[in-house]
Amino acid sequence: MPVRLVVLGPPGAGKGTQAERFARDRGLPKISTGDILREAVQSGTELGRAARALMETGRLVGDDVMIEIVRERLERNDARRGFVLDGFPRTVAQAKALDKMLDDEAPLAVIDVEVPEDAIVRRLSARRICGSCGWTAVSGASACAKCGGALVQRRDDAEDVVRERLRVYQDDTQPLVDFYRDRSTFRSVDGDQSPDAVAADIAAAVAAAVRGHE
Ligand code: AMP
Repeated sequence: MPVRLVVLGPPGAGKGTQAERFARDRGLPKISTGDILREAVQSGTELGRAARALMETGRLVGDDVMIEIVRERLERNDARRGFVLDGFPRTVAQAKALDKMLDDEAPLAVIDVEVPEDAIVRRLSARRICGSCGWTAVSGASACAKCGGALVQRRDDAEDVVRERLRVYQDDTQPLVDFYRDRSTFRSVDGDQSPDAVAADIAAAVAAAVRGHE
C-alpha cells in the first residue's frame, strides 16, 4: 500500500530533515513546498518573483497558488507509490484541498512534530543552508556536505522573521492540527530529541497511523 505522509510542525521542528530521511528510507518523493518556492525564487520565475517578498517577511504564499503547485506535483508518476509532504498543507483550506486530491487507495498519515518554542528559536538562529544548492547543513558543519558550497543563514531565519513565522504558524497552521487530530491516522511525536530518536518515533507513528486506518 502506498505511504502518504504529511509532516506537520512549527518552523525549526526538524520536519524537513525528518521528511527527507523518511522519504529516502522508503524510496518516496519528498515534496517540500518551501524548497519548490526557494528554487523558483533562485531561478527568478514569475512564481519566484511573486513569492519572494512574502517569504522574506515570513508570511504565507496564497492558498490557490500553493494548491495548484501540489496538485501538479502529485499528478507526476513518482507520487503514485506514495509521497512525503513537507510544508504543505499549511492552512485548513490547503488541507481540505489535499483531501480532495487523494483517492481512497491509501490513508493519509499525519504526523505532528512537537517542539517547545524556546528550542525552536535556538535551532533556527543556528541553522545554516548551502548558498549554492540549498541543502540544510547539519549543526557544526563548515561547508555543504553535498556540494562543498559555503554555508549561509536563510534570510527568513533572522530573528525578527522567525518571530513572525511562529506567529503565522500559531494563527494559520496550528488550526490544522485541530483539523486532523480526531482522525485515526493522526499522531504526535516529540521533536525535542536526537534526530535518530525522532526518526524512530516517526516510523512507529506512521505504522500505527496506517494500522489505525485498517
Ligand atoms: P518552509 O521551508 O516550509 O519553512 O517554507 C518557507 C516559506 O515558504 C514559508 O515561510 C512561506 O512563506 C512559504 N511557504 C512554504 N510552503 C507554503 C505553503 N504550503 N503555503 C504557503 N506558503 C508556503
